Amino acid sequence: MKEGSRKHGMLAPCAACKLLRRRCAPDCVFAPYFPANEPQKFASVHKVFGASNVNKMLQELPEHQRSDAVSSMVYEANARVRDPVYGCVGAISLLQQQIDSLQTQLAMAQAEALHIKSNHQFNTAASSQRPASSSSPDHRGNEADSLWFY
Ligand SMILES: [Zn+2]
Repeated sequence: MKEGSRKHGMLAPCAACKLLRRRCAPDCVFAPYFPANEPQKFASVHKVFGASNVNKMLQELPEHQRSDAVSSMVYEANARVRDPVYGCVGAISLLQQQIDSLQTQLAMAQAEALHIKSNHQFNTAASSQRPASSSSPDHRGNEADSLWFY
């Protein structure tokens, strides 16, 4: 690990060029997204997609989309390494199951809330004949007046 002593873009190869054992040109398409201090990122995408495919995909994209594409490829590659059969589809379907289960819970909670609300409205409608207790300051004022006069 000697790349710390060199400035970025000078002579230190990016993680991709280091792994591929080639010279890292100043306009290297990998360099901005695969820094030398994160070699695992390129190792994963190279293993799953192949360096030339990653190169092709990045070349075809406008520069402002490349960073997102790299994040996506790294995520997909890591998922494929973890789960060789389903890859990121495994993660997607697991999250989809969680969404379905949470939506069911939410629907049940909303139905319960509606039920409680309608019961509450029924109860308050039944007790609305009772006098309201919000006039206590006036009431206390009257009390003070009546004490004063007696
Ligand atoms: Zn490079």
